[in-house]
Amino acid sequence: MQLFKPKRRIFASKLREMPSINDLDLKGARVLVRVDFNVPLDDQQNITDDSRMQAHIPTLKAIIEKGGRPIVMSHLGRPKDGPDESLSLKHLVEHLRELSGVEVQFINDCVGDAVELATKQLPEGTILLLENLRFHKEETKGDETFAKLLANNGDFYINDAFGTAHRAHASTAVIAQYFKSKKAFGLVLKAEIDNVNKVLHGGKKPVTAIVGGAKVSSKISVLENLLPKIDHLIIGGGMAFTFLKAQGGKTGNSLVEDDFLETAQKIMQEAEKQGVKIHLPLDSVIADDFSNEAKRDIVDSKSIPDGWMGLDAGPETIVALEPIIEASKTVLWNGPLGVFEFEHFSEGTVKTAEMIAKATKGGAFTLVGGGDSVAAIKKFNMAEQVSYVSTGGGAMLEFLEGKTLPGVAAILED
Ligand code: AMP
Repeated sequence: MQLFKPKRRIFASKLREMPSINDLDLKGARVLVRVDFNVPLDDQQNITDDSRMQAHIPTLKAIIEKGGRPIVMSHLGRPKDGPDESLSLKHLVEHLRELSGVEVQFINDCVGDAVELATKQLPEGTILLLENLRFHKEETKGDETFAKLLANNGDFYINDAFGTAHRAHASTAVIAQYFKSKKAFGLVLKAEIDNVNKVLHGGKKPVTAIVGGAKVSSKISVLENLLPKIDHLIIGGGMAFTFLKAQGGKTGNSLVEDDFLETAQKIMQEAEKQGVKIHLPLDSVIADDFSNEAKRDIVDSKSIPDGWMGLDAGPETIVALEPIIEASKTVLWNGPLGVFEFEHFSEGTVKTAEMIAKATKGGAFTLVGGGDSVAAIKKFNMAEQVSYVSTGGGAMLEFLEGKTLPGVAAILED
């Protein structure tokens, strides 16, 4: 078992300070910037949610203000076999023009002589958008030759794509080696790192982590990494039932991972050793079927009848969590407290969001990231009421696990 073993980290002396756009002299330079423009498109290739594009506009504007010429590269979707018209980044050009307020040129590849020429001829104050990186299978393979070809398109390299920072792809990590002292984090990526560090390193006490969602198995490393940094650990959602069963509770048909009962016990023991108070749901809203229309009841979380499953935190649980969350000075929320997609089982997650919003108003630093809690807070229209909502699902989860993300390490290493 991997629990509580020390992790390998990058050798500290090889790390540079967190370089940002402001540290670079970009005047007249071609600035190759990796963004995450992986937006959802409908059948007519209309953008249905442009928040990922909006997020990078300040970075692009900062580059232009410093006299740099942004050469923008991104992936879009998962093209299976080379170029796929429906996943071309040309569908984003008009909207990028509107959002940025500057001229945008597009070129139908991301490497090669024609692309290089276009980067050299790009007028100041204009953005050049390259074609979908994943039209070349070498991108996701982290191919060095392809990364070198990409690198030919810029004098500086900025990584602003947090959503793919946990992947060692050609454009997110491998490419950085060709820009010694000529690379930096974009504003989005820097904000993600800064904000998660506010929780993981020196969060104002008391620090509370709320970890929910479906499975314990996907959150073990997160829990392991968080324990030394927190005062309270609130465990909710489906994963709580493995802990409740490990304590001898009767969990009926609730989601339980029997292979992880021992792990749950170890986590609880370790929490006690480290002085972290664990809070499990006292009562649960149970259902006789995994459906919004199922019959409902509220019972003690350790006395769930056979044939019934816990799908949400009960009212007693909510009352008990209120003083803990609202007294916290730092809160991390990762994973919903119930099946929030079903209206009848969303109350626990809604109330949790409200308590976090109240803590934020009272001056706490609150971060939502790395799981479906991001979808939940957006669904409840409460994203503006917390301190920070992370943009990267898988990347944030790996960050919370204490891993060094390849896209971050590549900028930090000389
Ligand atoms: P995660 O991606 O790990 O944050 O898991 C999110 C998913 O967990 C959501 O789709 C929820 O519907 C689901 N979930 C939350 N609580 C429960 C529960 N008590 N039983 C089953 N699934 C749950």
